[in-house]
Amino acid sequence: MREKQLAKLNILTVEDMLEHFPFRYEDRTAFQLISALEPEKKAAFTAQVVQVQNLRQGGKTLTKATVRDSSGSAELIWFNQPYKKQQLQVDSKLSIYGKVQIRTGIKQIVNPEVEPDAETSDSLHTGTIVPIYPTTDGLAQRTLRGLIYQAIEECDCFPETLPEAIIRQWDLMSRDRAIRSAHRPSDENTVKAALKRLAFEKYYFLQCGLLLSRAGYRRQHAGIKHAPDGRWVNQLESLLPFRLTNGQAAALDEIKQDMESEWPMQRLLQGDVGSGKTVVAAIALAKTIENGYQGALMAPTEILASQHYTFLTECVDPLGIKVQLLTGRMSTTTKKSIIDAIKNGQIQLVIGTHALIQENIEFQRLGLVVTDEQHRFGVKQRALLAAKGQAPDVLVMTATPIPRTMALVFYADLDISTIRELPPGRQVIKTYLVNPDMRERVYKNLVRREAALNHQTYIVCPMIEDTEELDLRSVLKTMKEVQNAWLKDIPCAMIHGKMASAEKETVMQAFYEGKVLVLFSTTVIEVGVNVPQATVMIVENADRFGLSQLHQLRGRIGRGDSQSYCVLISEGHSADTLERLKTLVQTQDGFEIAERDLALRGPGDFFGTRQHGLPESSLMNSVNDLDILLAAKEAAEYTIEHPELCSAIQTQITKRFGQLADKQVL
Ligand code: ADP
Ligand code: MG
Repeated sequence: MREKQLAKLNILTVEDMLEHFPFRYEDRTAFQLISALEPEKKAAFTAQVVQVQNLRQGGKTLTKATVRDSSGSAELIWFNQPYKKQQLQVDSKLSIYGKVQIRTGIKQIVNPEVEPDAETSDSLHTGTIVPIYPTTDGLAQRTLRGLIYQAIEECDCFPETLPEAIIRQWDLMSRDRAIRSAHRPSDENTVKAALKRLAFEKYYFLQCGLLLSRAGYRRQHAGIKHAPDGRWVNQLESLLPFRLTNGQAAALDEIKQDMESEWPMQRLLQGDVGSGKTVVAAIALAKTIENGYQGALMAPTEILASQHYTFLTECVDPLGIKVQLLTGRMSTTTKKSIIDAIKNGQIQLVIGTHALIQENIEFQRLGLVVTDEQHRFGVKQRALLAAKGQAPDVLVMTATPIPRTMALVFYADLDISTIRELPPGRQVIKTYLVNPDMRERVYKNLVRREAALNHQTYIVCPMIEDTEELDLRSVLKTMKEVQNAWLKDIPCAMIHGKMASAEKETVMQAFYEGKVLVLFSTTVIEVGVNVPQATVMIVENADRFGLSQLHQLRGRIGRGDSQSYCVLISEGHSADTLERLKTLVQTQDGFEIAERDLALRGPGDFFGTRQHGLPESSLMNSVNDLDILLAAKEAAEYTIEHPELCSAIQTQITKRFGQLADKQVL
């Protein structure tokens, strides 16, 4: 039972337990007098128990304890926990923490945390700065805190992981002290220094791993030296029905330079949805083929793969290049003949899903690998495809704009090209932030009106099913309600992460073909899917999503000629929330939105996803400090230049990156 709860938090070992860091702290050092307690504020105080009663109230048991100090009295209330009465001895002294409310003139605290008074026992939960941990159903905060404290007590020393020189030069706390202070904080400054040290460590090893694997790869592999542009590249460029934007042209230049150098290219091409990355990839692919090599493009889903196939065929057909699509769904015989043709070099350009990285696929001469939407593939998958050739050039495309500092850190193993602008003449998506009383108007008027024009709508909810503890819209319930109330005669469908992938693909296909007009979904709707007839994006509980994520969702629409609309529905509890969401109304520049998102949420949370409704298990939330991240990057760069430091961290790198670092691919 306990194990199961801990496993839900990814705590499987004592070590995991020690690395389960608080996501915030509460300062409970300042004890107050009852007379000074203010309503709606959290407070800590000590008091003596005067009376305890169990009462019945509307089918519930209510435990009420009256407590008193020298200045006055207050009531502590618990619902449906009659055993509390046994735990509270009249006349005993307690330390109490909780939110104060005033009911009929009496100060009340519902569900307070109570402890025997700190003066008489070593107190974990009150009278100190208290760590608050991410936890899960049925595992009380104080129980978890107790378990972690016990684990710490039982451990003599947490061994150091960082090299001595790094600790000294970057003025860091020792690992032992940091772990103890993070869980058992003495004062605010110590907590800060502890969290800084722990965050530094995490970023530092990530950086070192990326830099080492890149350095190793370069040392071990001579790349392909492509020739300057020839007939096919020139012809393809002149056949394009439009002029490349400055951003596209600059990125393409960087790619060509890499390809013509003797190093294997390892480049990230980032550009907002619709910035035209695929054309750039097409030209690079033509370049490798022109040099007598084969090109491969890997997409995360069948739909995306066939979308790319259609586009690339149009591009390179006039050149007489042999293009082929390969997906997991094809029959075994078809696949076999394709695989043969790849092996003997008949097929020059192959576009596929992860079927491309299967073991039985061999290329005759692979020159360039392009992977689209890289965050869907791991570093490992990228490496596997690259391993199919002799150090082919690698281009990774992503439509998730990330701020420059972040890119430098998290893609330290890649060079980066960025396309910032969109091709001219793109429509502006009308974006609205509304509260829930507008839902009827949105569904009845907007969605129906667009459906009558055969335009399609996406409706995104933060949850799949309803849960008791979170009052959020779920896909299942929203579809039922909305369809019954307003969209009875309109073909609707749903898609979410619990469905089998074949089922998901079928639904997406139906939407793609316009057989489904309204699609209820979680955030699984594919990044990069191009359905030009989709003109409406509605996001329920929009405040639950990160800005960048909302921007990605909005990128699903506005792909055709018709005006598109994005509606963010949010109860907008706080001014902060509204302010945050307004960013999307104000701008459509993904990079600007990403910078804003980073500034608001800090580096740790920026990469986290909140839609699961689980609290983020991450100490990064408390360390909203870009400086730490950049310091870690500096330290990693320093490390790479010092062989003795590199060998000092080898064990840690292997532990964290495993096989990948050993093989030093990509
Ligand atoms: P993404 O970067 O999201 O992959 P795409 O490559 O799918 O973007 O391009 C989106 C659309 O813009 C495609 O229809 C493409 O043909 C078109 N496009 C690309 N570059 C230009 C350009 N320079 N001028 C006009 N249209 C362009
Ligand atoms: Mg090269």
